Amino acid sequence: MKTDKRKVVLVGCGMVGMSFAYAMLNQNTCDELVLIDVDKKRAIGEALDLNHGLAFSNSHMRIWAGEYHDCSDADVVVICAGIPQKPGESRRELLKKNTEVFRSIIDPITESGFNGIFLVASNPVDVMTHITYRLSGFNPRRVIGSGTTLDSARLRYMLGNYIHSDPRSVHAYVIGEHGDSEFIPWSHAMLATKPILDIIDESNGLLDKSELGKIEEDVRTAAYKIIEAKRATYYGIGMALTRIVKAILGDENSVLTVSANLKGEYGQSGLYIGVPCVINKNGIQRILEFNLTEEEKLKFEESCKIVKENFGEIADEF
Ligand code: NAD
Repeated sequence: MKTDKRKVVLVGCGMVGMSFAYAMLNQNTCDELVLIDVDKKRAIGEALDLNHGLAFSNSHMRIWAGEYHDCSDADVVVICAGIPQKPGESRRELLKKNTEVFRSIIDPITESGFNGIFLVASNPVDVMTHITYRLSGFNPRRVIGSGTTLDSARLRYMLGNYIHSDPRSVHAYVIGEHGDSEFIPWSHAMLATKPILDIIDESNGLLDKSELGKIEEDVRTAAYKIIEAKRATYYGIGMALTRIVKAILGDENSVLTVSANLKGEYGQSGLYIGVPCVINKNGIQRILEFNLTEEEKLKFEESCKIVKENFGEIADEF
């Protein structure tokens, strides 16, 4: 039974999951937060640790290490669980393993009577979101991946620095696979309502279009750099997930570049991939279609092809 409490369940209490939980607590985003992990002891320890910060927060959040039946009245289930790649293991082997991990998670959640929204962060996120959709049998509007939300935030930060503007006034998106084939449709990158390309043209040589290619490369390789320096990325994705959950719980109709199931949009179907979507309490209210240039269309097609091939490697598992 649903109550008026905003309830979120997190599955996977590793670095990403707990960065999300910490951001949720600090931003007072929900009333109840349940932590689930195959390592129950870890989930218990994490719940204790977060609860001990409550006295210093402005939140009355109830936080506990729970079980899958706790999903029955949850609004959102966020999945950050996963097994890392072992040396010598192929991508297909890893995908197969993570499909089984997801089966062990999604089945008990749907059996609990959960009727909310799935939000997936585990990588490869476009494929894992598609798997969640297949395993749950949910309406695809209620199965969302973090997609290129984090990548778009990285872009807004870097572009804001370059043009000396607040990232919150930069409206620019990374779309496509959350991975090497993602790209930036520069024809739609704006500062307020002014195209970035015009700003560069009118800068009397102070700004240079060639710098945009460098920014795009820096966005694409940001995760590699962070992983090399500190083994994993987690704060940024934790905040990106919190932003998406806020848009759902607050019924915001906010635009975020989540991984969504395409059904003819951008001429594509049968896959999950990062595109700008309007997010509200029902999940994906609608997918926004940009008018891409011919070059951007080709890049998007190529990215879709790669994501489809990746999903194709485990499609016979369903
Ligand atoms: P981690 O190893 O620290 O945490 C993974 C957690 O999943 C562990 O606590 C583990 O016990 C748990 N787990 C494993 N199997 C489980 C199961 N069957 N049921 C419940 N829990 C289970 O990893 P991390 O650094 O937190 O990363 C988590 C995932 O997020 C990875 O797939 C990573 O690639 C991905 N990630 C995504 C983005 C993005 O932008 N989408 C960014 C960073 C990381």
